[in-house]
Amino acid sequence: MKKIGVLTSGGDSPGMNAAIRAVVRKAIYHEMEVYGIQYGFAGLLSNDIEKLEIGDVGDIIHRGGTKLYTARCEEFKTPEGRQKAVENLNAVGIEGLIVIGGDGSFRGAEKLTEIGFPTIGVPGTIDNDIPGTDYTIGFDTALNTVINAIDKIRDTATSHERTYVIEVMGRNAGDLALWSGLADGAETILIPEEEYSMDDIIKRLRRGHERGKKHSIIIVAEGVGSGPDVGQKIKEATELETRVTVLGHIQRGGSPTGYDRVLASRLGSNAVELLLNGVAGCMVGIINNKVVHRGISEVLSEKHQIDKEMYRLSQELSI
Ligand code: ADP
Repeated sequence: MKKIGVLTSGGDSPGMNAAIRAVVRKAIYHEMEVYGIQYGFAGLLSNDIEKLEIGDVGDIIHRGGTKLYTARCEEFKTPEGRQKAVENLNAVGIEGLIVIGGDGSFRGAEKLTEIGFPTIGVPGTIDNDIPGTDYTIGFDTALNTVINAIDKIRDTATSHERTYVIEVMGRNAGDLALWSGLADGAETILIPEEEYSMDDIIKRLRRGHERGKKHSIIIVAEGVGSGPDVGQKIKEATELETRVTVLGHIQRGGSPTGYDRVLASRLGSNAVELLLNGVAGCMVGIINNKVVHRGISEVLSEKHQIDKEMYRLSQELSI
């Protein structure tokens, strides 16, 4: 393989730039040509394809977002759209593609491989919701952003003796809520993978208040419901002064942590190695600190699991 392409697709995550840099440098190291496709799969259809040189990915390893931009593309979900994408890739002579993104983007990558275009997926999402890897690129940075925000809220929560409800991202996965809740000693963590009862939450809050707790923190993953709704129910059921913060998109930005930069560098370069070795239709991941790869279809057929033991621990430590 002499010419490969790289794109970022779906929701962005910190560390995508470090992954692009790794792909470009590793490919050039192996004397391949590498092309950046802008705006995800949409750029394949609009021919936003440009050759990248070593210098083009300089000074981006520490930047959040993605130099190649990202987009969502409905046309790519149609067989005609994908056929057009392959024709555009063939016209430039690109023989393999690396897709950096989340599970939606991997469905696109899977379909490309099915129609004979070799594609490798690199997991980039703050949600950490992809089976086949312990961590996705961006999760660690988002986790630290959330922790940082909660630390600040905690200060004011203590000063005013308030209950704080904090909504964090995670539509289908509670990793960000669970990890940040554990890291910040939240009293209650609501995640989509575990059932909860509002009565239990109220009881916990009352118990804490009675034993003199100065504040309470409740983390709500967006997939469970909205933070404002949970806050409203607490206000209706108790006399506790309650405030709600929705962290929103600050969780998706910022300079990637050291962990995410290293992970992105390892996974991005491994994706190039796989294409060189004739492997396609796979996703690269990290399991027990070893870089591994698995079939994208297999990964997509599985459901992301929360670490149940960690969830139990969070409950034990917040009695
Ligand atoms: P993420 O990768 O963050 O999960 P999305 O779910 O929005 O993001 O998917 C990103 C893009 O991947 C979509 O806009 C579309 O172009 C492509 N895609 C998603 N699902 C499919 C599918 N079933 N078939 C083909 N392409 C898909």
